[in-house]
Order: sequence, then C-alpha cells, then structure tokens
Amino acid sequence: MNEKMTRLQIKRMVRLTAGVVLLLVAIAVFLIYFLMQTMNDSARKQMTVETEEYKGRIYRQINADFQSLDTLASFFTSELLEDRETFAERLNISNEQNNFQTMAFFYKEGDGIVSITGAGVSTDIEYTDLNKAVHPVVEKALQGEKSVSRLFYSEAMEESVFAYAVPVYINDELAGALMASDQLEIFSDIFDGNTVLGGNGYLHMVGTEGDFLIRSQNAVVKEEMQNIFDGPYFDPEEVPVLKEKMNRQESVFSSFTYEDETYQVLLDPVGLNGWYLMCVNTLQESNQSLYPVLAIMGIGLAGVALIILFLLIYGFRLVQKNNRELWRHAYHDPLTGAKNLSFFNQELSKLLEQGRALSVVALNIHQFKFINEIFGREYGDTLLVEVKDVLDYKMQTGEFFARDKADLFYLCLLETDRQKILTRLQNIMDSVVKISSHHHNNYQILLYCGVAANEEGDKDVTPLMTHVMFALTTAKGSYKNNVWFYDSKLHEKEKTENYVESHMHQALRDGEFKFYLQPKMDLQTGRLKGAEALVRWMKSDGSMIYPDEFIPLFERNGFCAKLDLYMVECACRQIREWLDAGTEPIGISVNQSKILFYENDYIETLTALIEKYDVPGNLLTLEILEGLAADHVDELNQKISLLQKLGFRISMDDFGSGYSSLNILGNLHIDELKLDRGFLLEVSDGKNARSRVIMEQIVQLTRRLKISTVVEGVETVENEKLCLDMGCDLGQGYYYSRPIPREEFNRKYMKLTQK
Ligand code: C2E
Ligand code: CA
Ligand code: CA
Repeated sequence: MNEKMTRLQIKRMVRLTAGVVLLLVAIAVFLIYFLMQTMNDSARKQMTVETEEYKGRIYRQINADFQSLDTLASFFTSELLEDRETFAERLNISNEQNNFQTMAFFYKEGDGIVSITGAGVSTDIEYTDLNKAVHPVVEKALQGEKSVSRLFYSEAMEESVFAYAVPVYINDELAGALMASDQLEIFSDIFDGNTVLGGNGYLHMVGTEGDFLIRSQNAVVKEEMQNIFDGPYFDPEEVPVLKEKMNRQESVFSSFTYEDETYQVLLDPVGLNGWYLMCVNTLQESNQSLYPVLAIMGIGLAGVALIILFLLIYGFRLVQKNNRELWRHAYHDPLTGAKNLSFFNQELSKLLEQGRALSVVALNIHQFKFINEIFGREYGDTLLVEVKDVLDYKMQTGEFFARDKADLFYLCLLETDRQKILTRLQNIMDSVVKISSHHHNNYQILLYCGVAANEEGDKDVTPLMTHVMFALTTAKGSYKNNVWFYDSKLHEKEKTENYVESHMHQALRDGEFKFYLQPKMDLQTGRLKGAEALVRWMKSDGSMIYPDEFIPLFERNGFCAKLDLYMVECACRQIREWLDAGTEPIGISVNQSKILFYENDYIETLTALIEKYDVPGNLLTLEILEGLAADHVDELNQKISLLQKLGFRISMDDFGSGYSSLNILGNLHIDELKLDRGFLLEVSDGKNARSRVIMEQIVQLTRRLKISTVVEGVETVENEKLCLDMGCDLGQGYYYSRPIPREEFNRKYMKLTQK
C-alpha cells in the first residue's frame, strides 16, 4: 500500500471518529436538555398539585364560614331585626359560640350592630366606621352578593384578619348584610411556615398587585418588603408581563436566583379576590441548580472529545511520519539518495498505463568493478553520487531516474526520437566525465547506455526492462557506440541463439532433432532416385526450429559434428528398416559439416555405424560444402578416397553459391555435384543467357568427369524441363516435395507403413 492510500485511510478514520464524537456530544446535549425539560415539567407539576391542594383547603374553609353565616341568617326574623337590643344580644352570643373574631349586621341603610370577641357589642355603628377593607364586602352583601375581603390588620384583635359578608333575606326580601371577620386557619398555616413539597418549598399568598397577603416565615428571602416585585424574586424586565398575566388571572411559572441558589416559583391564582398563591421550590437539585453541573458535564464531554481528537491527530502524524520514513526506505537508494528500482518500476508502470510515449535508458560505467578495486570503494561511491547529481540536473519535467545496484542507473525519458535521445545522453555522459575528471586522477571515466522505447505501446514494464538490458549488454560489447538502441529483430535472433545453445544437448538426448527426408528425382524417368536427410528441431512445446537458425551456430560451437553423425545413424537405421522390410532401398544424402573432416576418428565412426546397421556404404552420400576444398585439397582428397573405398558417395553441396571454382571439379574426386538453387533462379527467367551458358558448361563438364548432377530448388514444371534440357541427372525441390518426416516419406514413396 502506498503512502497516499494510508494517508487517505487515516484521514477517513479521523473524520469518522470526529463525526462519532460530535454525534455523541449532540446526543449528550439533547439528553441533558431532555432531562432538564423533564425535571422542569415534573417540578412544575408537583408545585401545581400542591398549590391546588392549598387552594382547595382555602375554598373549603371559606365555604364553611359562609355556611355558618348563612345558617345564622336563616334564623333572623323581621321582629328580631326591629328589636335592636335583643338582636345585639343574640349576635353577641352567636359570636361567642363561633370562632369568629368579629360579627356584625348592617341594615340596608348601612347602620348596624357589631360584636367584637372579648370587647362586647355596639348597636349604633355605621359600616363606614370599620376598617376600609371591610367596606366592599358589606356593600356587596347589601347588593345580594357573598364575598371575602382582603387581609387587614384589626386594631381590636391586634392581628390580621379577613372579613366575610353574606346578604340576609327575610321573606325573600333583602334585609341587610351579616358580616364576620376571622383569621383563616389555613392562612395561619401558611404564615407559620407549614411547608409544602415535602419540606422543600413554602407558600406566600399575594394580591393581584403582588402585595403580600400572607408571607411565609420559611421564605428564603428574608428582606423586609411589601410586594413580591420589590425583592429578588423577579427580573424587573419581566415584571410588566407578569403583572399583565396576573391581571388576567393566569398561572406563571418562573425562577429566581438568590444568594447563588436558583429557585423555581409558581404563581397560581386562587380564584378568589384576585388572590394568588406563590409557591417557591427550595429543592437544591432543582433543574436550575443543575445548570452548572450540566454545563460542567458538557464541558467535560467536549474535553474528552477534544482529547480523543488530539490523540487521533497525534497518532495520524506519527503514522504519517513513520510512513514517510518507510516510504523513503522503500523507494530510495541510501548511497546516492536517488530513487530505487521499485520506485522506477512503479512510476514507469503508471506512465505505460497512460500510454505515454517514452524511452527507458540503462546507464552504466565502463569497468566500474575495476575502478572500485583500483581506486577504492569510496572513490567509486563518489562517482555514483556525481552521476546522480548530473541526472538530477538533466531530467526534464515528468521524467525520472533511479539507481538499481552497483553502477546501474535507469532513466525514463519522455522522448522516442533516437537522434534527440542520443544528443541528450551524450550531453549527460559528457557532464559526468567533465565533473569526475576534476578530481579523479588521470583516469578517463567512460559511460555507456542501452535504450529501449515502448514502440508497440506495451503496457507491461517487464519487456521494456528486458529490452533495455539487452541493449545495454550490446552497448557494452560495442567499441564503436556507447549508446545502443534496442532492435527487436536482433533481440529475437539473440534469444533463439541463447535457447539453441543452452538446449542443444538436452534436445539431442530427448530426440527433439527429427529426421526429415526430401526426395531426389531422376529427371529422365521421373522416378525417385534418392533422398536428402534434413534435420528439424521439434521443441517440447510443439514448435519447430529450422536448420538455418541453429546449424551456423552449431558449426561455430562444434556441436554440428555430433548432430551430423546422429543424422548419419538415423539414415543407416532407415536403410536397415527398408532392407528388413524387403523394400528396394534408395540412397540417402546426409549433410556433413566441415568440422567433421578435421576429426581424427571420423572415418572410424562412420565405419562403425555402417557396420552396426549392416548397410552398404554406397547407399550413403556425404554432402560436403565447397568451402572445405579451399585449403588442404590433398588431405581432403585422401579422406574422400578413403570414404569412397568404404563405399560412401561424396557430393559437393551448394555449388555456385560461394566463390565456386571450376578447379574444384578437377581437383576433388567427388561423385555428385549439387547445383545451388541460385543457378536455377538466374537461368529460369530466361534473361540471363550467360548464366545458362555457364550452367550448361558445368553440366557437360561433370558428365565427362563422370560426376552426376543434382539441381536444387526445382519448384515448377518449367524448372524441371530446363534442367532436363541442360542434361542434368537429378532434381530436388518443392516441385516434387518439401522435406517431410521419414514416416510420411515411407508412406508416400516407399509404400511402407510404419510399425
Ligand atoms: P541444403 O543442404 O542446401 O538443403 C536444402 C535446403 O533447401 C533445405 O532447407 C530444403 O528445405 C530447401 N529446399 C529444398 N527444395 C527447395 C525448393 O524447391 N525451394 C526452396 N526455396 N528451398 C528448397 P533446410 O532444410 O532449411 O536446410 C537448410 C540448410 O541447413 C541445408 O541446406 C543444410 O546446409 C543445412 N542442414 C540441414 N540439415 C542439416 C544436417 O543434418 N547437418 C548439417 N550439417 N547441415 C544441415
Ligand atoms: Ca545439402
Ligand atoms: Ca544445397
């Protein structure tokens, strides 16, 4: 995996983790909000329930008091009302029997009787003489309406009380108003600080204007004040809105902060006189006081997220650094600082994939091993660094180079024009030579290059690298050119030669050399007269190599001697097969390399072979090349006559192809002359009259010397007629048959089916 990919993956991971952390924070925030909301709701609900309970109690008590007054009034008669003294007495007794502090009756005109507990009764009092708070209650009752007054301070009782009044009817006619004042028990409860919310709250009772009617002694706010809006309970900005709501007798839920604690407040209308119950929640863990905790939690969470993110980024940096280090090691040559072969191959592969036209150059220093040995490794290393420095400078945009091992540098040039490449490479080599000559004794550095272009648009790196190495090897061996361009044909030839040379022994052992036969026909009778043995190399993969591709090489490396004798043995075996089968045998010609004639035991080996297969020597013709006669004619003649004594026939092959000389015919005692295909080619188109004369002369000469003639390369009926006209004896060529495997030959010409 390359660095880019790793970096991408890590980045993706960081992004994912950051996303997850953010999501977690969002979920936490939502949960906290939800929790707060729920807590708020439940606190509100609880406060509402408690307030409702108190409201109920207030109603119950007020109703009970109204009921007492109504019952009392039902006993009033017109007579009783008229007798003020008696009425006053009765009212005083009633007052004493009840819990009321004051009881009073006012006639329609507003005058009446007042009984005050412990202070006796007055009979001529106007209601307007009483506390102001009482006036509206009495007035309402005189208009037929029950009501309760606001709380007021009674001078007589020296405590705060309420007044109630009910209308009194006699015979369905309004007769007056019965009034009483009392301290509502429930209110004293509130006042005494009877706690609500299980001890975590308290109640005040306030009027519509926000004035305290009853102020709980348990209140957290102890300051002296008359109105709830004077203290710390509400934000002054909120007050107008609150007042408005209270005017409309709406419930208000709010909170306030006092001495660093936050409390929830509920203002709930009682539904009587515009009174409000104000419930304060003193629970410490109220959601308001949770805010800082939640804030800390949030900050903590964000902190954790930040730490995770930091760790991730830190890890990412670490891996990146590590990666870079690894990358440096993976793609760099530590000695020169150049890129290495892995890098080169990777980049080259990318360009080839894109189908870019380019050339790869392999650059080497002549005798680098020697330089290292003589001048020391350090000197060699400096030289390599100098090459690297020059290349750094000479590469163009998009091009790159690398050092593989030792003194081998690879260059990738975005250029395929040979002349331009040559100029650039010469320039590079000159620069290296110039730089190195400054401090490198008197030794003249020499560089050489192999170049291969991706001519066929090959997308694979391997062939290009093989080609460039091949070109480099050729450049190394060349004295003329230090830059060598890869040549595909040359390479193919070289490849085959390599194969041929490294596989020849194994091929002979494994029988890959096949014995083919080509017929030689009697031109007069048109009948089969003999056959030439020709070798074919059938590779194990089924492909065939023709003699032209290996015989010249075998002649150079000496293997031809072995192969020729093998072919002689095949011929002997074939003749023996014919004899054994009772078929009239024909003579077989075998090509004999000239090196055989220089081997001392040549004749003995041949003798051994014909003896082994017990075949008459005259069925074997040895084809030799005229070049053999160029020197040592006497020696050759000696060998020839020895072979002829053993019965072998001797044929001169390819006559006329080289610097043939008619002398040969006179000097060598041969039995057959094979006229090279070239003769026929020249004569057959009828234009070259001189060649025809020469050929005719040769044929006549051979006839006189009792040498039979074979014309090679008879391809058409015209060719055949020409040969016949000129008096040739035998014809060989594709006109009759191509060389064919011996099995096929036997079927076709010898009427012999293979066992
Ligand atoms: P060669 O001895 O002159 O063999 C004749 C060549 O001409 C053969 O090629 C044959 O296939 C070809 N030929 C025959 N008739 C015609 C024709 O009508 N037209 C044309 N165009 N060609 C024809 P081949 O078999 O490829 O052999 C090439 C050469 O390799 C031979 O030339 C011979 O010099 C050598 N060679 C073949 N087998 C052996 C062998 O076993 N030992 C040695 N030393 N050399 C061999
Ligand atoms: Ca031949
Ligand atoms: Ca020939």
